[in-house]
Amino acid sequence: INFEAFKLNKQLLNAIAEAGYSTPTAIQEKAIPLGLAGHDVLGIAQTGTGKTAAYVLPILMKIKYAQGMHPRAMVLAPTRELVMQIEAVCKDLGKYTDLRVVCLYGGLGPKTQIEQIEAGVDLIIATPGRFMDLYKKGVILTRELKTMVLDEADKMLDMGFLPQIRAILEIIPVKRQNLLFSATFSDKVERLSAEFLEFPERVEI
Ligand code: AMP
Repeated sequence: INFEAFKLNKQLLNAIAEAGYSTPTAIQEKAIPLGLAGHDVLGIAQTGTGKTAAYVLPILMKIKYAQGMHPRAMVLAPTRELVMQIEAVCKDLGKYTDLRVVCLYGGLGPKTQIEQIEAGVDLIIATPGRFMDLYKKGVILTRELKTMVLDEADKMLDMGFLPQIRAILEIIPVKRQNLLFSATFSDKVERLSAEFLEFPERVEI
């Protein structure tokens, strides 16, 4: 199987080729068709398996770029480092699109992040705490969110982000696509999956 089999557009196929991805990884082979078909996905996969591109490519394929001001998709991740790694994958694979990505994380003042959001954004990549801080300031409008990803869900739970994740699930549209990725499938992750995902397709590698 190759990337052409997924019916991705030319901009994405060119970026994939230039990134040096010749064949999809196991998680990509299973998760990309499910993501494109609009299913909720529970992905059990470690870092290094290509899990990021497995959810980024369907988002890049389906999102309407540079339309309107408010985010259409959001990825929550536990740390600033992971947020930046996910951004790098989005920039790499989205290099021939007009996708506007904004990263939100703590450790620095919110001014630049607020300005970036106010300039218009398609995809937000955020740590849960900083997202909630900016949401409470009234900076982010969530009603156009259609796709929501929780990446490294086990690590977010270990870091105590469950209350923030729950608060975020309360303020985003009910009708949306959800994807949850976790390296492990603990009881805690299972409970979060049950709250977050609707009739998920499970993908494990
Ligand atoms: P991840 O598991 O998402 O952290 O990805 C691990 C690394 O694999 C990243 O550096 C990606 O650039 C790379 N990668 C992702 N998908 C592929 C692929 N299909 N072929 C080759 N490398 C890939």
